[in-house]
Amino acid sequence: MGRVFVAGSINMDVVATADRHPKVGETVAGRQVLYFPGGKGANQAVAASRLGAGTTLIGRLGKDSFGAELRTFLGDQGIDLGYVVETAEAHTGTAIITVAEADNTIVVIPGANGLVGADDVEVVPLLAGDVAVSQFEIPLPSIAAFFQRARAAGAVTVLNPAPAQKMSGELLALVDILVLNETELGFLAGVDLSDSDEAARIIGAARQLQVREDQTICVTLGKRGVLALAGREEITVPGRAVKAIDTTGAGDCFVGALAAQIADDAPLRTALAFANAAASISVQRMGAGPSMPTAAEVKAVLG
Ligand code: ADP
Repeated sequence: MGRVFVAGSINMDVVATADRHPKVGETVAGRQVLYFPGGKGANQAVAASRLGAGTTLIGRLGKDSFGAELRTFLGDQGIDLGYVVETAEAHTGTAIITVAEADNTIVVIPGANGLVGADDVEVVPLLAGDVAVSQFEIPLPSIAAFFQRARAAGAVTVLNPAPAQKMSGELLALVDILVLNETELGFLAGVDLSDSDEAARIIGAARQLQVREDQTICVTLGKRGVLALAGREEITVPGRAVKAIDTTGAGDCFVGALAAQIADDAPLRTALAFANAAASISVQRMGAGPSMPTAAEVKAVLG
């Protein structure tokens, strides 16, 4: 069984709840302040580790109290943190979130995540059969260096291009499995897919992104499940009918679960169905990290 290596962001999400949002220049009294471990990299590593994959996280924290708390939380999830570096040059990545009237505002400060460099990712001991995972919350040249290293070692590369930003054809060519939602697919393919239920349009857009014949483009469709283009083959995984209460981190759960399955040598169809089931469990619970299921919970759902 291979390991999952995630090079990515680690954040503290600071959530303030209030009855209403303040206007510009105004102060309102809040109800609660909550602290949640977050960052797409950390969330995906938590998902893979909870599902039983040997998981290593590569990233940067500041030398501050959020950094110390996150290290403890992630270590408690069984994640290897030997390649998470504390830097004095920036604070720990932080998201300031206000929740009021069922709406939120978010300000994310990347901090130490912005300093993850090629030197951080090139020393990682990847082997054939391992899975290298990244997202767009660390510098793109560092992701390219990580994937070059992974491919040279015979590992599988998985990219979740979120939050969406334009990427070079060189980076795309280093990706074996691209996992993205409809909004990100529309942005990267340059087509409007908003509320598109039409599988043919989604597959058409996915085909535009394929730069290698052996590439897999996996499009997550929220409650509608997943559509994947594996080489020329189309795979449909229907969504699971569940009562969603918080979809934060659903995509991260999906990516972490898919990586854990690929590291375990599962065939793609099996891995996609497993990841879809795992993500459908996560949306029935609050939060991102704490909502990630165990392998036993996913197996129980799959029957
Ligand atoms: P993101 O969170 O990145 O926007 P999606 O909303 O597409 O990604 O969700 C990722 C995956 O989570 C979906 O493909 C599906 O497996 C699962 N999922 C998300 N929302 C629901 C839901 N309401 N019911 C069941 N499964 C869901």
